[in-house]
Amino acid sequence: MAEPNKPPYTGMNTLHWNESNIDNYYEFPAGFAGSKFFYELKENGKIVASSCKKCGKIELPPKAFCVDCFDTEIEYIEVDLPGYVYTYSISFYDLDGSKLEKPIIWALIAFDEVEGGIIHRLGEVDPEDIYIGMDVVPEFRPKEDRTGSILDIKYFKPAL
Ligand SMILES: [Zn+2]
Repeated sequence: MAEPNKPPYTGMNTLHWNESNIDNYYEFPAGFAGSKFFYELKENGKIVASSCKKCGKIELPPKAFCVDCFDTEIEYIEVDLPGYVYTYSISFYDLDGSKLEKPIIWALIAFDEVEGGIIHRLGEVDPEDIYIGMDVVPEFRPKEDRTGSILDIKYFKPAL
């Protein structure tokens, strides 16, 4: 049972309503393409995008059909690493308004040749050292700790 005002944030399959002190949990499928994305994160530690066999468009998060030409001949491909910081923001306060001991750095991570990206935390980097275009790689949790969630990636960190 989650503490009041402390949602569990365990992944996309969990929502929490905390104003009523009633815990309500929902699970829903992420669809074929979304499920493939989360499966690859969990089982193989890979970030996969959809690639249209007809026009070549590559999208992240992956789609079950091409949003440009509507073709359904899609293959799922691993994105090339490193990705890069497309943009970022530094959060000094938690969701409940309390000041964080250490700021959280949120970033939109983009990948070459891929439309879209992943919003995630940055880690192992000081805020003053971040820049737009910085090469980053995902830091995955150990396989036994992964749940099929975007949080199977702990954060993105500077590529060496
Ligand atoms: Zn297409």
